Formats: sequence, structure tokens, C-alpha cells
Amino acid sequence: MQVQQVKERSKAFVNLFRQHKGMNMELKTFKGGLHPPDNKRWSEKKAIEVCPVAEGDELVIHLSQHIGAPAEACVQKGDKVLKGQVIGTPKGFVSVPIHASTSGEVIAVEPRLDTAGNKTMAVVIKADGKDEWDPNLSGADPDKLMPQELKDRILAAGIVGMGGATFPTHVKLSPPEGKKIDYLILNGVECEPYLTADDRLMQEKPEEVVEGILILKRILGVEKAVIGIEANKPTAIETMQKACEGKGIEVCPLQLKYPQGAEKQLIYAVTGREVPSGGLPMDCGCVVQNVGTAAAVNAAVRRGIPLIERIATVSGSAVAEPKNLLIKIGQPISKLVEFCGGVKGELGKIIQGGPMMGMAAVSMDVPVTRGTSGILLFSEGEVIRAPEGPCVRCGNCVRACPAFIMPTEIAFQMRRGKVDEAEKLNVMDCIECGSCTYICPAQIPLLQFFRQAKSAIRANIAKRKKV
Ligand code: SF4
Ligand code: SF4
Repeated sequence: MQVQQVKERSKAFVNLFRQHKGMNMELKTFKGGLHPPDNKRWSEKKAIEVCPVAEGDELVIHLSQHIGAPAEACVQKGDKVLKGQVIGTPKGFVSVPIHASTSGEVIAVEPRLDTAGNKTMAVVIKADGKDEWDPNLSGADPDKLMPQELKDRILAAGIVGMGGATFPTHVKLSPPEGKKIDYLILNGVECEPYLTADDRLMQEKPEEVVEGILILKRILGVEKAVIGIEANKPTAIETMQKACEGKGIEVCPLQLKYPQGAEKQLIYAVTGREVPSGGLPMDCGCVVQNVGTAAAVNAAVRRGIPLIERIATVSGSAVAEPKNLLIKIGQPISKLVEFCGGVKGELGKIIQGGPMMGMAAVSMDVPVTRGTSGILLFSEGEVIRAPEGPCVRCGNCVRACPAFIMPTEIAFQMRRGKVDEAEKLNVMDCIECGSCTYICPAQIPLLQFFRQAKSAIRANIAKRKKV
């Protein structure tokens, strides 16, 4: 689909939504960004289905599925485990426990391949087919708990950001003393093409999301909570509006634009506030949580259920029947694909997450994690890139960049090995959304340069700290 067609589709959604709601106002959005084809039609109408685990299936559960220190295994080969039982304990404040996602026997505690092709520590469970819960898990009435007790339950359940960032939620809910938070923003944007998991969650389980938001509000002590949802999800908007009535939660319909789901861009779209360069959402009084995280918080507090499963979209041109699935952490990608009718045609690429910010998976054997919002399979013909050409100074990358940096200049400096110059050009503000690379007519792999620059700058900072 051409860019113009995509913009028209976006406008059509917005107009439809306005007519439907009788609104004349402009829908909110952020500055910069672009309109890739959303390709959600393949799975947006598919209700969530459970991807089953059978007796004898092997689940590979990595001990590092979150930002921060990996958990440490607390089970051994030969141990029998129950669903929801802790199999890895957190190491440090920025870390979370890991749980068994089904009952069975631990058949290995050893390094296993992750999505990127690295071998990292994992607990491998052979399912017994009983899916038997740990009887020690129990819920509580959130209204009877203090904010710290609620956070303790969230930590114990291993809750992390479900939009893909996997930042431990208890840390995000613990702003340093002196930081005043007055806004809780819920991310129901799902701006990545193809993905429809959050859309289905909001349509099918709105009360789970709302109850989770009420718990988050209580922890943060905020009055204002707003759910940002793009206008291409009219049913989710309507469903959430009904579920939020009388609960002190507002639903904010947004224009369609990528990367509106990025924290800084969502904060600007919803509140008009700007996160300062190098700063965090809490620097402008905001905390952002994904709608899936809110639902997970509710399950953790009210029912004592740890983060052992999640909703993910399986889609793309090489999937026989795209679906939205409730998956168990540790299932291999191949199992999900098999449940969706298998591969269609010749497989060219597998991506965990969305096509813009997701990660290419090395094989179908790697397991899904707490951050897996989608599995996309693309056919061979779709993944061929034209050869890189010279920069034609079109300025597309600059216009698209939501971080207001100069992609073309930074890439120029990085080609000359000038990391210091890239730093002066604020490369650290790059949110790695890939918009510049997507829009570049010369096919220059701009994002690659920025990732190199950022890791070199971080290494320099670490070196300076050691001296
Ligand atoms: S420079 Fe970074 S933030 Fe800007 S468009 Fe490119 S990837 Fe996105
Ligand atoms: S989009 Fe590509 S060709 Fe255009 S200015 Fe940026 S780097 Fe150059």
C-alpha cells in the first residue's frame, strides 16, 4: 500500500470515528512520525484462542526476560514443579522472579538459545499435561492493602511492561522521593503494524484492564488516569469507554500514527507535556503502563496469578491463519505457528514483536517470553531489501523523527567513526523506532548507526565511571 493510501485509510478511520461519536474536534497526536500500512485486518476480528500445552511438551523459560539483572534458578534438574511456582529468584531491585508456566518436571537448567541467537540461562520444563496450580498462590482485596503491599504483590508475580519493553513494573511504580506524579497514562495504542493483541484484550476483557488501572492509581496516589487508543480500534474505544464509566478513568482516542505507543510520544499526545531530553516520564509527572500490564496487575493482586502467560498476535504473509493467542511463556514459536495452520509458502523472516521495533528470531525453536506481543512470519519475497544508495538529502528522515534529531547527520558522523559528534547531535534521544530507516528512499540502514553510537557512548560512560 502506498503512503498516500495509508494516510487516506487513517483519515477514513478518524472520520468514521468522529461521525460515530458526533465529534468535531481534532484527534490528538504527537509531532513527527509516519503512517506505515497497519495490516491489522488479518487478525483484528479474531477472538483470543488458547494455544494448548500437551503432556510431553517442553517449555524453555529464560531467566532473563526483563530489563535488569537476570533471575537466579532456584530449582534443579529432576524437580517436580507446579504452575505458578517460582523457578527463578530476582537479583537486585531491578529484577523480577520467574515462574513455571505449567506443571511438570524440570529436565534441564542450562543455557538455551534466545530470540537473538544468544545462549542464556533457562529452566526447561517437560509438561505433565495436568496444568496443576501451585496451591500456595492466593489473591487479596486491593482495597485492604497499602500501596507498598500492592507493589510487593506485583513484584512477587514478576510483572513487567507487556508492551514489549519488559521493564519491571514495581520499579516504574516507585518514583524517587520528590518526584510528583499526577498522571497515569495507559498505553492502548498498539501502533505497530499487524499487532492486535491489546485491541482484543480491551474488547474481550475490559474489566480486567479497568480493575488493574484502579490498583495502579491507588499505588501512585493519582486522580488522573487516561487510556490512549488509536482511532483504528473503534470497538475497543467504545468498550473501554463503557467499562470506565464512573471509575474516574478517561479514554482518549488518538490519530493513527507511528510510533505513538512510545512513552514520550504518547505522553505528548495525551497531555501536551514534553519529557525533557535525557529524562524519564516521571520528570513531567507521568507514569505510563501498557493495558496488558494493567490486566496482569489485576490478576496478580486479586487472584495471586503470576505472569506466566500473555496474549500475542501471530500474523504475517507466511502464516496460514493469523490469530490472537493466549500463549504460555516458554512455548516454542513453532507451536504457535502450528496452531495457526503452519507456514504458508516460503518463509523469509520471523520477527518477535512488531515489524518496526521487533527483533528477528533466529529460528522457530526459540521460546516466547513475557515481552512477546506478536510473532510475525514473512515470505521470502517480502524481505528482500534493495541495495543501499547515496543519501539524496530528501529530509524524509528528519521530518519523520519523533525525537527531533537529525538522522542523516548522525549517520554521516558515524560513518566517519565520530561517536563524540553523534553524541553532540543527541543520538541518545533516539527511541529506536525505525521510522527514519523505513522512510529512507536510499535504503540507508540509519537505525543500525544509531544503535552502534548508543552502545559506544554507554561503554564510554561505563569506562569513565570505573576510572
Ligand atoms: S533517529 Fe531514532 S527516534 Fe528518530 S526516527 Fe530514527 S530511529 Fe526513530
Ligand atoms: S531519508 Fe535517507 S536519503 Fe533522505 S535525507 Fe534521510 S538519509 Fe538521506
